[in-house]
Amino acid sequence: MTNRFFRIIMTILIVFIGFITTVATEDSDIEQMISDLADEIETVEDNGDFIVEAKSSRYGTDVKKSFDGLASQISTDFNNQFKLPKGNVFISFEDCGTVNAFYDPQNAKIIMCYELFQTFFEFYSTPEDAVKAFFFVFYHELGHALVDQWDLPVLGKEEDDVDGMATRLIKI
Ligand SMILES: [Zn+2]
Repeated sequence: MTNRFFRIIMTILIVFIGFITTVATEDSDIEQMISDLADEIETVEDNGDFIVEAKSSRYGTDVKKSFDGLASQISTDFNNQFKLPKGNVFISFEDCGTVNAFYDPQNAKIIMCYELFQTFFEFYSTPEDAVKAFFFVFYHELGHALVDQWDLPVLGKEEDDVDGMATRLIKI
């Protein structure tokens, strides 16, 4: 199996698995295809871990405390769910001095700024909605990280592709 072909099927699996699963229940050919794709994923080596950290915040010690819990949950969940063939991926919740969230491919690091959470918290009428919005952005950045770490080909605009991935991933 060539590397290129493998990347293509990985993308198909990640982006369309929800759709395929829905339409494939009566179609044994597609079921066979999904089973083959699952076998291919088994061959990916897991050479790294998600290293998740919540830094101290100027918004108060409670912020770090709540994000510490989240960080350990994410670390457990993601390390069980995702293989990282290229090595560790770092996730940091921190004060950035600006409202932002981004993936830094140079350092394989997702930075989630507390300022973004604060902004959502002020904008949305319930804390639950603020958390949902923050998580959508988080999964969007995770999408960028997985595109980079798995060398997934981006078939359209990457921003749109990772929005699609975020929508799928957040339902897992
Ligand atoms: Zn983006």
